Amino acid sequence: MVKRTLAALMAGVILLVTDLAAGAQPASAYATFNRHKLIYGVGNYGASDQYYWVDSSASGYSSTIDTAMDNWIYTSSYWGITTPISYLRTSTKSSSRMDHYKVSTVNSWWGLTQMFSGSTQIDPLSANWVWAKVLLDGDFANCPNKKGVIAHEQGHSMGLAHVYSGTAVMRADIGGLSINRAQPDDLNGINYLY
Ligand SMILES: [Zn+2]
Repeated sequence: MVKRTLAALMAGVILLVTDLAAGAQPASAYATFNRHKLIYGVGNYGASDQYYWVDSSASGYSSTIDTAMDNWIYTSSYWGITTPISYLRTSTKSSSRMDHYKVSTVNSWWGLTQMFSGSTQIDPLSANWVWAKVLLDGDFANCPNKKGVIAHEQGHSMGLAHVYSGTAVMRADIGGLSINRAQPDDLNGINYLY
């Protein structure tokens, strides 16, 4: 069975953002949830650091989660693209706005992201959210692209939706691809949102 990663509540139509003003530039290969996003942002270039947290259920993937997050943050020298993303890991769950869990059940997905305001789940197509929960599947150990899937879910938590072609960690079929970190198109999407 081929698993795909899913964003929560994907029933609506995703708007593929294109940049027609760029002339010869290719269309921007990122998509958003109707431009909805994290209410408190993604760190504001370090002026307003955000925090992520790793639940004990996902502790086996701590280093992969840390690296995936670092790959979203430290992009200036790697890609020549700077975004406002600035996250620190916290051991205080209540400080976190990006929680990582592994579920015990085996599902049709490798990763799933849910958005919340308080304890109320938010449809990202309809409203902004305060924090997000990244879920890794019960058989995540078998996932062929662990870092890519984690980076993909982190991308959802920050407001990026699926793309279906091109080179992006937000590809819906990321679990079976070799792309394992945020790509320029993904970073451009973050800069569009924040
Ligand atoms: Zn997804």
